[in-house]
Amino acid sequence: MRVSRCFLPVMKDSPSDAQIVSHKLMLRAGLVRQTAAGIYAWLPIGFRVLQKIEQIVREEQDRSGAQEMLMPTLQSADLWRESGRYDAYGPEMLRIRDRHEREMLYGPTNEEMITALFRDEVKSYRELPRTLYHIQWKFRDEVRPRFGVMRGREFLMKDAYSFDLDEAGARQSYYTQLLAYLRTFQRMGIRAVPMKAASGPIGGDLSHEFIVLAPTGESEVFYDAAFEEFDWSQAQLRYGDAQGLQRLFDQVSTTYAATDETHDPDRWSQVASDRQRTGRGIEVGHIFYFGDKYSQAMGLKVSGPDGQMITPMMGSYGVGVSRLVGAIIEASHDDAGIVWPEAVAPWTVGLVTMRADDEPSRTAAETIYDRLNAAGVETLYDDRDERGGVKLGTMDLIGLPWQVIVGPRGIANGTVELKRRATGEREDLSIESALARLTE
Ligand code: ATP
Ligand code: MG
Repeated sequence: MRVSRCFLPVMKDSPSDAQIVSHKLMLRAGLVRQTAAGIYAWLPIGFRVLQKIEQIVREEQDRSGAQEMLMPTLQSADLWRESGRYDAYGPEMLRIRDRHEREMLYGPTNEEMITALFRDEVKSYRELPRTLYHIQWKFRDEVRPRFGVMRGREFLMKDAYSFDLDEAGARQSYYTQLLAYLRTFQRMGIRAVPMKAASGPIGGDLSHEFIVLAPTGESEVFYDAAFEEFDWSQAQLRYGDAQGLQRLFDQVSTTYAATDETHDPDRWSQVASDRQRTGRGIEVGHIFYFGDKYSQAMGLKVSGPDGQMITPMMGSYGVGVSRLVGAIIEASHDDAGIVWPEAVAPWTVGLVTMRADDEPSRTAAETIYDRLNAAGVETLYDDRDERGGVKLGTMDLIGLPWQVIVGPRGIANGTVELKRRATGEREDLSIESALARLTE
């Protein structure tokens, strides 16, 4: 993509209405614009990041055996009356009337809808277990939307729902999502520690929040340093391996990690003091087992092998896809701007000419641009007739992992500068070696 054709509204100064660094940087680098309180338009560069994050979530859900579908944003109030949550939900639910005065709502979550869909189609134990998910916009009329996309009113969530014949099966589905989450966040270049979460009315140990450590996080966190050496991708573990999944769960749940909501000073005091870590964190995911809460209330039953009726056990598993854009920036930035992990960067390479009016530089940059495109390396080429320093500042701000800097002096010697955004390391390389490095 050429910057001269981009819709990339970059701001020089820090916007005064943003309190935290990710929100400031998202506005400055032109990722989003607020269109109403807590509601954002995703501009092209922000949308690219959002889609990359969404795709990683999707691939890891698919790999874990969950199946994608798409449920609508608008739901009927009657559906929520079946579970009893229509009155219970309170003012966070945006309630709407259509032209026939039918009561509707903009979905804050989808337990009711998926339970009804499953109930109407699935009749036999042979059709279980199943895990379904979708990636869809939600609306929650938060009292205080703030921090940009981190606590918006409209936000993008991946929500998955599992259906099992009994609690043992439901635990396996839960462990499967736990592993999928570890892999998902690891691929995005961040560490999200699974922390014991309040489990609600049914109790049990099956609820975890995934927390990215960042000083601006809304929760206070306490965790064992063991998570600093944790094997996040669990590359050896297979999804079908029940014992391996159980071991993973045991390891996660016996290693202390809690937010202020679930913090247990007694258990904490048993963690050696040189291993105690505290800080703040951002909730980017939440997995939850809730048994037959919805299946019971909404009459979901399947026939068992001996003709008896079985009420399936369910769990739900959320990822804050749009919140992750902010959370990743909180975890990965410096004074000059965003530092994207490669897997979610809007482009991999930023190509800059220091002097667009220098013909040899321009010719070389065009060649490099063509070659990178041909090799499938996503490249943003700043071909504008702007001062070199301004262009470099913009590249640092938008945080692409690599910069290729083409200047008259280098080109006279046949070299360009390759800069790694994360470390600031710069190297003079021949055009061929720079290309080889970026396309390897
Ligand atoms: P929070 O405690 O932050 O309000 P929650 O516990 O109400 O979140 P869940 O119902 O667990 O949220 O939703 C799943 C995920 O969706 C959360 O882990 C979070 O990443 C994301 N999320 C929830 N509310 C918002 C919001 N207002 N804006 C952006 N993302 C959100
Ligand atoms: Mg939650």
